[in-house]
Amino acid sequence: MSDVTPGTIEAVQARYAAERDKRLRTDGNAQYRELDGLYAAFDRDPYCEPIDRPSRDEEVDVVIVGAGFGGLLTAARLKEQGITNVRLIDKAGDFGGTWYWNRYPGAACDIESYVYMPLLEETGYIPTEKYAKAAEIFEHCQRIARQYDLYDKALFQTEVDDLSWSEDARRWVVATDRGDRIRARFAVVAGGILHKAKLPGIPGIENFKGHSFHTSRWDYAYTGGAPGAHMDKLADKRVALIGTGATSVQILPRLAEDAQHVFVFQRTPSSVGVRGNRPTDTDWASSLKPGWHRERVENFTRMVSGDRPDQDLVQDGWTEIFGRNPDAMALSTPEQQQIDFEDMEAMRRRIEEIVNDPKTAEALKPWYNRMCKRPCFHDEYLQAFNRDNVTLIDTAGQGVERITEKGLVVDGVEYEVDCIVYASGFEVSTSYQRRLGFEIHGRGGRGLADAWQDGAATLHGMHARGYPNLVMYSMTQGGIAINFVHVLDELSQHTAWYFAHCLKAGIEEIEPSEQAQEQWLQTLFANMGAQAMFFAQCTPSYLNAEGSREATPAMLRSIPFFGGTMNYFDILRAWRAKGDLEGLEARSGAEAAAE
Ligand code: NDP
Repeated sequence: MSDVTPGTIEAVQARYAAERDKRLRTDGNAQYRELDGLYAAFDRDPYCEPIDRPSRDEEVDVVIVGAGFGGLLTAARLKEQGITNVRLIDKAGDFGGTWYWNRYPGAACDIESYVYMPLLEETGYIPTEKYAKAAEIFEHCQRIARQYDLYDKALFQTEVDDLSWSEDARRWVVATDRGDRIRARFAVVAGGILHKAKLPGIPGIENFKGHSFHTSRWDYAYTGGAPGAHMDKLADKRVALIGTGATSVQILPRLAEDAQHVFVFQRTPSSVGVRGNRPTDTDWASSLKPGWHRERVENFTRMVSGDRPDQDLVQDGWTEIFGRNPDAMALSTPEQQQIDFEDMEAMRRRIEEIVNDPKTAEALKPWYNRMCKRPCFHDEYLQAFNRDNVTLIDTAGQGVERITEKGLVVDGVEYEVDCIVYASGFEVSTSYQRRLGFEIHGRGGRGLADAWQDGAATLHGMHARGYPNLVMYSMTQGGIAINFVHVLDELSQHTAWYFAHCLKAGIEEIEPSEQAQEQWLQTLFANMGAQAMFFAQCTPSYLNAEGSREATPAMLRSIPFFGGTMNYFDILRAWRAKGDLEGLEARSGAEAAAE
C-alpha cells in the first residue's frame, strides 16, 4: 500500500515537494539538446525520399507556414471564405504535422477522436475507434487536404529560412532552403506547439556505437515492421526506452511484444488511468444529427476547463478528472486538494493492483498533483512491466547518468543495449523564435527575437505591432486547451474571417496598436490567477519551464491566456461580431502609398 495515510494532506504535500526537489535541476531547459549540429542526424526524415524541384518565385494572397492541423484548418477555412490563392510550406513530406512525424508503434490520439479530429462533419468522416490510431489521423489530414484541394498549393520538404516584411512592396517575403522566394500579402505562422523534438542532455550521447533515434523519427528500417505491424527485426535486440511521458506509455507495450528486452529509463513516472478504447458504435454514428461535432468538441472543452455543462458527452478519463474536480488545474482550496489527493491515491492503487513486483510498482507511483504532468490513459502500459523482458530502471528523478559506447549508466551500473529510443519529448517552454527555427523580420528589418527579448507583445496572441499582416498560432499570449486542435479550429476561423474582411475592405497594411497590446497584456495578467501558481509548484516538466522558480519579466509577459479556453474563444468571437477590427490600425493601399 502507499505509505501515506489517506487524508493527510500535509504529509502528501511534503512528499510531493520532496519528489519535486529530487527532480529539480539548475540547468532547466538548457539540459536538453537541439536536433542539429552534432545531433542533426536525429532530425532526418525517415518517411520519404528526398525530392528535387526547381525554386519558385511567386506571389500569393496568403502564405501559411506549417501543414499540420493549424495549416490545414486555415487553408480550409480560407477556401470557405473564397480565398484560394494560398501557399502552404512544410518541412515534412506530406500534410499532417504531428501525425506525419509521430508514427511510432502504438501511436494514437490520447483525446477522444470524435472531438480531437477536426472537420468531421465537413468531410463526412467518422473515426473507427474512440481513440483512433496515428495512421488513421494521418489519413484524415490527407482527406482534408484532398477535399479542400490543397495538395497543389503545398511545398513539402521545404524549410522556411526567413520571413521578412518588405516595406516597399508591402508584402511578406518568404525565403526557403530550396531557394524559393514567395511574396505574400498575408502570412500565417502555424508551426505547431510540439514539433521541435529534443534530446536529453545526457553526457556521451554521441559516443553510443549502437543505433538510436527519437520517437518522432521512428526508424522502421532498423526495427522492421510498420505502424500497426510487428517489428520483426527486434527479436534479438536489447532496447533502451528513455522517458516515461505520454509517448513512451503508448510505445512500451508494442516494443515489449517485439524486442528481446526493453529497459525503461524513468525520471518521473506518469499517472496512467484506464483508457477503455473501443470501436465506434455504428448505431451511435448513424444517429448523429447535424451540428453534433461542434457540440461535442465544445462540451469536452467546457468539461475540462472546469465548467459544468449539463451533460458530459465524452465520458472518459479526462472528463472524469474535471467532473470530480472542476478546479483540477488550480486546486485553490483544501477540499480540491483532498479530491486530487484521492484521485492520485487511486492511480497509485491501480499500479499496485496491476504490477506484480512490489519494488517496480513502488517506483512507478507518481507523487504530484494530477494535472502537474499530462495525465496518461492506457490499458497495457503498466501490464507490460509484468513481462520478463521488461525492466524498469528508476533513476529517482536524476535521469540517465551517462551514455557509453555500449549502453547507459545509472547509479554506476551500465546497461548494455543495441538500440536507444529517445522518448524525450519536444520543446515547449523555450522561446517562440527558437521553436520556430527561423526569424521573422518585421518593419525596419527588426527580428522578433529582438523585439520580444523582454517578453512578447501581441493582441490576442496572434497579431504583433511591427509585424503587419501576420498571424501567429502559439501559446505565447494565446489560448490554451487540453484539446489544442479545438484552439486551432477557432484560430483558423478567426484568421479566415479577418483576412476576408481585410481583402474586401482593401486594407493593405494592418497591425495592432501599442495600446491594444498593452490592454491584452493586462487581460492576461488579470486572468493569470491560480493556474499559473499551480504549475509553478509542480514537479518540473515542459508545462512549467522545467520547474523554473524565477519567473523573469520576459517569461511573465509570454504567458498564455489562463482565463479559460471558451472565454478566450468568446473574446475572439465578440471581436469579430463587433466587426470594426478593434485594436488594429489599418491602412488602405492609397494611404500606405502616400506615406
Ligand atoms: P514528455 O516531455 O512528456 O516526456 C519526455 C520524457 O523524457 C519524460 O519522461 C522525461 O522525464 C524524460 N527525460 C528527459 N530527459 C531525461 C533524462 N536525462 N533521463 C531520463 N529521462 C529523461 O514527451 P512525450 O513525447 O512523451 O509527450 C509530449 C507531449 O506530446 C504529451 O504531453 C502530449 O501533450 C503529446 N502527446 C500527445 C499524444 C496524443 O495522442 N494527442 C500522444 C503522445 C504525446 P521527466 O518527466 O522527468 O522530465
